[in-house]
Amino acid sequence: MRFLKSSSCHTPANPFYDVREECGIFGVFNHAEASNLTYLGLYALQHRGQEGAGICSSDGRQLYIEKSMGLVADIFTEKRLKRLPGYMAIGHNRYSTAGSSVLKNVQPIVANFALGPLALAHNGNIVNAVELRRDLEEQGAIFQSTSDSEVIVHLIAHAKGNDPYERIIQALHKVSGAFSLLILNEKELIAVRDPYGVRPMCLGEVDGAYVVTSETCALDLINAAYIRDIEPGEMLIIDENGMRSVKALTSCKKAHCIFEFIYFSRPDSYIFGYQNVNEIRKEFGRQLAREAPVDADLVIPVPDSGVPAAIGFSEESGIHFDFGLIRNHYVGRTFIEPKQSIRHFGVKIKLNPVKKLLEGKRVIVVDDSIVRGTTSKKIVKMIREVGGAREVHLRISSPPTIGPCFYGIDTPTRQELIASTHLIEEIRKFVTADSLAYMSIEGIKRIVPDSGNFCRACFDNDYPIGFPGEHLEQLEFMFR
Ligand code: AMP
Repeated sequence: MRFLKSSSCHTPANPFYDVREECGIFGVFNHAEASNLTYLGLYALQHRGQEGAGICSSDGRQLYIEKSMGLVADIFTEKRLKRLPGYMAIGHNRYSTAGSSVLKNVQPIVANFALGPLALAHNGNIVNAVELRRDLEEQGAIFQSTSDSEVIVHLIAHAKGNDPYERIIQALHKVSGAFSLLILNEKELIAVRDPYGVRPMCLGEVDGAYVVTSETCALDLINAAYIRDIEPGEMLIIDENGMRSVKALTSCKKAHCIFEFIYFSRPDSYIFGYQNVNEIRKEFGRQLAREAPVDADLVIPVPDSGVPAAIGFSEESGIHFDFGLIRNHYVGRTFIEPKQSIRHFGVKIKLNPVKKLLEGKRVIVVDDSIVRGTTSKKIVKMIREVGGAREVHLRISSPPTIGPCFYGIDTPTRQELIASTHLIEEIRKFVTADSLAYMSIEGIKRIVPDSGNFCRACFDNDYPIGFPGEHLEQLEFMFR
């Protein structure tokens, strides 16, 4: 889900996006404790969005909605969960920037249209939302939020016919971008995935109830069994008669997000055809050790994102692994902090080196990615100056991040991505490491099964889903 916001340098009719969007979704049909399960599902998916969350339930007669800013466990008190009766529910975790931090943008979005009430939860970004919104507003649509997901709701309302599925399909044919969607009305749960399958989405089962969610870690928490992934372009309709699958959108080329494997999904999850994220990350680490070996005494991860790759690096190189940096788990991901000054401070409050381990050692530090380079710089400095390491060798288990994501991963503009404007040697100097190496794109291809089915635009600028009427540069200007 991506957001639209007005700005003094753009007319209100031409709002522009704020790209910092990552989300988690969870839905359940036919369970006496639908809302409680959704709460647990969102809890397991908290890493996909920490800014706000919501649950919408149905008892077969009407929809009930509770949503708020904040973390799942803080929002959903027992009292609030009791206000969500029914045997079906959908939920959403949202991650966004300060500019868009408003309750009206928290999902599920609930609206009434000709065929009755509907709630929608969206993970992904719609790349033609500006154009669609402009057209809809010209036709008289009044938007309640600045969320691109609301565009889908309006498109469904504007579509023709008495068949809700047909209306949803008509609407989604106009939409370009990434969407894993859950839609709830009084009597059914509908799940749809974009034709490229950009964001993960899977189907599970617990106590005879169907569950649809972003990652399998949400299934695990509620003891649900994994059944299968929702296919790209597939629509699942789940109601009292059971489950039906409809080929809603033609899928020509899959474009699963490679960054889900690298950073975003939880390591215990199985995504994109039941591939374990932890295993893939460990393989990335092994590959990195083969591609960029270095003589050293110790391999340490940047916790938590670098842990599996560091273990793989250690296994492959035979160099001892240990936790040389300790993370304070009660601090949010530093990347979320909107202000540069806070982000700099954030690294220190989040990570502390273990001097006893590092003193006098030649240390290999493994992380999953470098974005702006600011965290890496702080970490290298900390390991050397506070930890007392003799040498610091930085190894990154992904290729240089040179392109922003327009499909639902929080990345800054191209100008802010250090690897888009600097050579590796320049980055090494900036982060003050003794050596720096990234994994190659070839290495990724070797490790990831069916790697041709992945979007790697952040590493190769090859964007699989086109942008309407705009050159990439123009679009990026809009994104700023
Ligand atoms: P930076 O200081 O900007 O280079 O940030 C690098 C750190 O950000 C690495 O430790 C990554 O694990 C982490 N990271 C990468 N992508 C994201 C993201 N989309 N959201 C939050 N953190 C991220």
